[in-house]
Amino acid sequence: MAPKYGINTRLVKVVNDDHNKASIPPIYQSTTFKADSIDGFSNSKYDYTRSGNPTRTVLQKHLESIFDCKFAWAVNSGMACLDVILSAHVKPGEEVIAGQDLYGGSDRLLHFFEKKSNLVIKHYDTTNLSLMKKVITPKTKLVLLESPTNPLINVVDVRAITDHAHKVNPDCVVVFDNNMMTPLLMSPLELGVDIQYESATKYLNGHHDIMAGVLATNNEEIAKKLFYVINATGSGLAPFDSWLLIRGLKTLSIRLEREQENCRKLANYLVSKGFKVRYTGLKDHPQYDLHNSQCRGPGAVLSFETGDLNFSSTIIEHCEIFSTTVSFGSVSSLISLPLKMSHASIDPSVLEDRNFPQDLIRICTGIEDIEDLINDLDNAIRIATRKCNAKL
Ligand SMILES: *Cc1c(COP(=O)(O)O)cnc(C)c1O
Repeated sequence: MAPKYGINTRLVKVVNDDHNKASIPPIYQSTTFKADSIDGFSNSKYDYTRSGNPTRTVLQKHLESIFDCKFAWAVNSGMACLDVILSAHVKPGEEVIAGQDLYGGSDRLLHFFEKKSNLVIKHYDTTNLSLMKKVITPKTKLVLLESPTNPLINVVDVRAITDHAHKVNPDCVVVFDNNMMTPLLMSPLELGVDIQYESATKYLNGHHDIMAGVLATNNEEIAKKLFYVINATGSGLAPFDSWLLIRGLKTLSIRLEREQENCRKLANYLVSKGFKVRYTGLKDHPQYDLHNSQCRGPGAVLSFETGDLNFSSTIIEHCEIFSTTVSFGSVSSLISLPLKMSHASIDPSVLEDRNFPQDLIRICTGIEDIEDLINDLDNAIRIATRKCNAKL
């Protein structure tokens, strides 16, 4: 059944049953809750914040409304989401299939599990559907997908891969990392995936001032397993961070609309300068149609190649408005060199095997004036052209 209200309304409509009728949910900065009686203790709604906290509950109910899902859990980072998922669903010796150009941190965590718990981790080009249909077999316990990938902006056919995985093994858990698109631009659960997660450190909170992660599913059994690990390990989101995330979420749609508009304009500017731009908002993106069949917009992250590592580094060093920072999804624009930043934790020979362009620059646009962003980049490109030509 379609939700009663549209996404923009749901983002700001926070349901809160505070007994004092506070308009904004209170922060329950308490780790313990009193029992009515010794006998009634096990029946109380709250006893200890690791297991449950009223502010986190308001956030989780709010997330269920925004994600239009039955169960949502808030944890203390995007990586904690993947940690909880792997701990809950995969046993030693079981096979996990993931993409080749995964987020660097996800790659590191998968390999940690490979060494520590003997998981069998296999990386494939998830954009190659016929290959994916061959390699996902009844042995596959979990499939981890991202689309568009970060920072190569490759698009994965989420529905086709998910359908195949469920057909060959009904118990296979298909997991989707929806950091790039957010619930505003993509609904992976509707495409059939079992669990979707997002780093709320990025767009959902949107101001780079908390770390948080969100897990969403419609499957009760999966939700219970996830909660078991969250409670057992203490990865539930803290009350104050839950409160900040409730606040940040309210402006998600207006932030992302501006960020996306800025990104489209910047992509066109970079194309006009002759760079090879990777962005799903450009009609010549090789998977433009596939992207649009599963998403409602291109988002606000693009990457481009200059042909030379030194040239790329010089551009980045001479931007004033774009800050040289990892991560994305904040109101201010960022520029980075993935090779030396977000992907520095991956073995360079592995990146080379996967044809990762060394000179790739990733940009994430914020909400600034587009004229200033274009001028800033234009100036840095001019300086880089002068410096690099002088060296030749
Ligand atoms: C940032 C990011 C994560 C990890 O989130 P954290 O909140 O930093 O732990 C996972 N996947 C993708 C695609 C990301 O960009």
